[in-house]
Amino acid sequence: MRFKVVNDDFADGFPVGSDLYYECLTCKTIVFTQTPVSGDCLCGNFEIDVGYARISVKDVTKIRLLRRVDSKSLFE
Ligand SMILES: [Zn+2]
Repeated sequence: MRFKVVNDDFADGFPVGSDLYYECLTCKTIVFTQTPVSGDCLCGNFEIDVGYARISVKDVTKIRLLRRVDSKSLFE
């Protein structure tokens, strides 16, 4: 899969979507925002809690939001 960075300041909160993923810049874990089970990154900087539709982040400067780019996309 290929990704495009869409946001890294999160001034408006933490969006989720069918093509959105969070990447931890510390441990490089990428977690789908609509993961069917709760997910977290390896170093514990962020956690996506599906049951509560909540994203917990310890250090917001260490994550970024990615959008999945499919091979037919015009947005490179
Ligand atoms: Zn991490």
